[in-house]
Amino acid sequence: MILKRCLLALALSTTVFAHPQQPAAGSPPGPDAGLPTYKPTNSFPWKNMYPVPRAVPQPKPEWMELLKNATIANAPVVKKAPDGSLVNPNPPGQDPYCAWSFTGCKRPDDIFTCQKGHWALTYDDGPTLASPPLYDVLDKMPEKVTFFVIGGQVIQYPEMLQRIYKAGHEIGIHTWSHNLLTSQTTEQIVAELKWTELAIKEVIGVAPRFMRPPYGDMDDRVRGIVKQLGFIPVIWNHDTFDWKINTPGFDASSIEAAARQWAGNASTAAEGGISLQHDQSQQTVDMAIKVLPIIKVCFSSLRNLCET
Ligand SMILES: [Zn+2]
Repeated sequence: MILKRCLLALALSTTVFAHPQQPAAGSPPGPDAGLPTYKPTNSFPWKNMYPVPRAVPQPKPEWMELLKNATIANAPVVKKAPDGSLVNPNPPGQDPYCAWSFTGCKRPDDIFTCQKGHWALTYDDGPTLASPPLYDVLDKMPEKVTFFVIGGQVIQYPEMLQRIYKAGHEIGIHTWSHNLLTSQTTEQIVAELKWTELAIKEVIGVAPRFMRPPYGDMDDRVRGIVKQLGFIPVIWNHDTFDWKINTPGFDASSIEAAARQWAGNASTAAEGGISLQHDQSQQTVDMAIKVLPIIKVCFSSLRNLCET
């Protein structure tokens, strides 16, 4: 029932989303340099059975069987320019496969926002050594948030994932290598999702329901694979642009200003919100902690928003 309301809000949305994140070529999210040394409390002997963290993985053969009877859109694997950005294969004005990166296109089953009066806070790219201070702040609050985690990070810091899961937060997939999914083959996309799902399941004992494509990069081929594997794609409708925090000339105070504006509009806005932030570095975590009390006007976790 709540999911239906959520999807209704999506259908009513008229916001157009430009591609907000231009990845550096193959660059992984935030460095952990300079942060406290990680002290694991458990041993996870299965770690070595996984692909190398952040490397593009290959699927187990049985995973490809899951697509056997599926109708997946025949969108081309999108090529990358030398700077790592995607090269639009379509003529101007055409978007046959609803590629969000090029046109902001979305399908009714994608989750971009939720119903009026609700707000889902989402944090991507963790867990990292920078993450725990954010967990500490969240521990003191009753509200729950959503973390879209990278598989390679999960096997490096499994205790962190256990901590946020036990604290009641939602855990979603953010792929294994954090690459642009439309630039990957179908086999690679399956591997990105299934290895990350497997790691999450091994660590917390529960399979994730939601996934977020890195950089929001998704077209109908990616959507088809994601849905056939049983996941729900989630983008956002409010970007803090915290991923630009180290870009020369970027004014970090704009993040706070945007949060204040969203909070100010929340009671009268026609729809709710899903905001994008990152626990990928100390700077983004510091900013997340700073804006948390501002956005905390009316938020619910993604799970609460979308439970059926
Ligand atoms: Zn990301």
